[in-house]
Amino acid sequence: MTQLGMVIDTDACFGCRACVEACKVENNTPRGAFWMHVFRYEEGEYPDVDQEFMPRPCQHCSEPSCADVCPTGARFKREEDGIVLTDYDRCIGCRYCEVGCPYGVNYAQFRSPEEAQYGFANENAGADWYGSGSLADEVDSDSTPWRNPVHDEPVAPRQTNASGNQPRGVMGKCTLCVHRQDSESKRGTTACAETCAADAIKFGDMDDPNSEPRRYLRQNQGKSRFKLMEDRGTKPNVVYLGEEPSADARPIEDADTFKDPETAIEIENHPPESVETEVEQ
Ligand code: SF4
Ligand code: SF4
Repeated sequence: MTQLGMVIDTDACFGCRACVEACKVENNTPRGAFWMHVFRYEEGEYPDVDQEFMPRPCQHCSEPSCADVCPTGARFKREEDGIVLTDYDRCIGCRYCEVGCPYGVNYAQFRSPEEAQYGFANENAGADWYGSGSLADEVDSDSTPWRNPVHDEPVAPRQTNASGNQPRGVMGKCTLCVHRQDSESKRGTTACAETCAADAIKFGDMDDPNSEPRRYLRQNQGKSRFKLMEDRGTKPNVVYLGEEPSADARPIEDADTFKDPETAIEIENHPPESVETEVEQ
């Protein structure tokens, strides 16, 4: 059996979120959707306070509760490598999987992919969240930032649409870069792991003792390790190295803290007023 998954070293992660951006670029995900997300939280009491980071993709569970509750069979686990996918052609957007998953990794698509992109069709045409020019100004008609052609290939085994940014009214989440796993040149890689500046994400076959993540676990046998919410019975395939967040961990909210995508679009359209601090000369 092959079961793709990850080992994520939370001690190595320094919270740069390059993985988050790499995923967005690779999969053209819409505003407010973060298939890879980095939780930021504080531990300890003043003056001994630490800021910690925990990247969180879909856990590609061996017992995926999202698939159990899906009424159409659109959410399924691919037998050949254990990736949990959404068949976009079959998904009816009921959002049961979003409720059934304990990890908060599912993102509904409320708008057409092009409308949901940063800098497109928003009220502040010409300026995106970061204050730079609209993406629409930057790309020519051959470029589709909401749909990368690498995702146009039908996905095995159903030969349906299940890769990259999902159509309107359909659920999306991390696919472990399924388009890469099905390619000749990029099999065995994901955008997040490839981009991580700290090499904190080890991707590979969790059932193969010689895979990179399994070797990394052996090299770090003395370190604490944990999986998320194992008591839910989902059997997640992401193993974290480092200390598990304590019950007293305090989350730090920021721009990619989970929001309903429509709320994220509303914030983008009406960004908070910037505050200028006057400095006495
Ligand atoms: S993390 Fe959630 S969405 Fe991903 S496979 Fe597990 S239950 Fe399903
Ligand atoms: S790219 Fe690596 S170091 Fe940066 S936030 Fe993601 S996991 Fe952490």
